[in-house]
Amino acid sequence: MKKTPFLTLEQVQDIVKTYPTPFHIYDEQGIRDNMVRLKEAFSWNKGFREYFAVKATPNPFLINILREYGCGCDCSSLTELMLADAIGCGGADIMFSSNATPAEEFVYARKIGAVINLDDFTHIRFLEDCAGLPETISCRYNPGGVFQMSNGIMDNPGDAKYGFTTEQLFEGFRILKEKGVKNFGLHAFLASNTVTNEYYPMLARVLFELAVRLKEETGVHIGFINLSGGIGIPYRPDQEPNDIYEIGRGVKEVYDQILRPAKMDDVAIYTELGRFMLGPYGALVTRAIHQKHIYKEYIGCDACAANLMRPAIYGAYHHITVLGKEEAPCDHQYDVTGSLCENNDKFAVDRMLPQINVGDYLYIHDTGAHGFSMGYNYNGKLRSAELLKKADGTIQLIRRAETPKDYFATFDFCDILDDILKK
Ligand SMILES: *Cc1c(COP(=O)(O)O)cnc(C)c1O
Repeated sequence: MKKTPFLTLEQVQDIVKTYPTPFHIYDEQGIRDNMVRLKEAFSWNKGFREYFAVKATPNPFLINILREYGCGCDCSSLTELMLADAIGCGGADIMFSSNATPAEEFVYARKIGAVINLDDFTHIRFLEDCAGLPETISCRYNPGGVFQMSNGIMDNPGDAKYGFTTEQLFEGFRILKEKGVKNFGLHAFLASNTVTNEYYPMLARVLFELAVRLKEETGVHIGFINLSGGIGIPYRPDQEPNDIYEIGRGVKEVYDQILRPAKMDDVAIYTELGRFMLGPYGALVTRAIHQKHIYKEYIGCDACAANLMRPAIYGAYHHITVLGKEEAPCDHQYDVTGSLCENNDKFAVDRMLPQINVGDYLYIHDTGAHGFSMGYNYNGKLRSAELLKKADGTIQLIRRAETPKDYFATFDFCDILDDILKK
């Protein structure tokens, strides 16, 4: 499918008068339409709820849009919990799905009433000791082995650090029940960025069958099953996008097959989607500031891997559109780079693109999740602004760009950088 930017060259030329490149920008209408589709797709389940994975895009303006549709927050660290709490999420609005969790984070999660999703058998004792056990608790499952779908996509839970083994889960539920836990949840995240409608239904089957056995063998009440994240997006133009309605129907079919006959038709389905919620509705806009001709042709941009790390660390593909040249032939081969002193700082390698001139604006697609949030400050690079293209077409600043003062702020305990910090 052809990938179309949600901005035109003219719009970007207008935006940069106020907000210089690079910046991440998000499409409010796109976010809302997608949210409505997700809710419709799971409307057959009374308790359905999406807990947006805050780590994907920890911006309160964006999360507040999702909250209008009843989304909660999925958090995995202290600051994510603080963010969720500060925007008015509380209690059952927050899922705390963390791992290797520091004690103070459990304490904080309990204080604000977040639903805790335990990552490990030993965390039962750990949580009890540091913060006490709540009435509702969820446990994360890891079935081990490999998880393979019919189109060849697979992931390797056996190699993943997360979750309880099957045996530990049965033992854990027994112990938790004995200690007074009343309401249980079950969670698993077995494959990431799956671009197939099969993943959720397959995962649901694993969890539903397990839930029935857990109920029968331990007598606990299972209130919810959390399918977590993992629904992917088509980063490449040749990928077929997921059909969320098809996915919702697939999960319903398994629900009717397994949970209903076991008299477990009160089980709520939860999701913790990040990428699927915002990925396609964000873009990184950067300007070509150099052209370099050596053994290869390079385009040097004013953004770098510090703004978008996925290509550098995973070799991830992000589609690039040269704004104003949407229809031009892709007859030039380029490496599109940032300015880090790191040779993997490339948004694209050997990419066929229209001829790029210095001053052209490049629109890097699908940066709405795990984009800005993975940013870092290597080479002293500063984080960019985040902007929102509102449903009415106007532009709103939703996070300002960092300044050198932000970068040096952690030297404010001494006077050695006062020349910068006090100006
Ligand atoms: C990262 C994460 C998610 C979101 O994953 P996506 O691939 O963005 O959907 C959900 N739940 C947990 C526990 C995670 O760590």
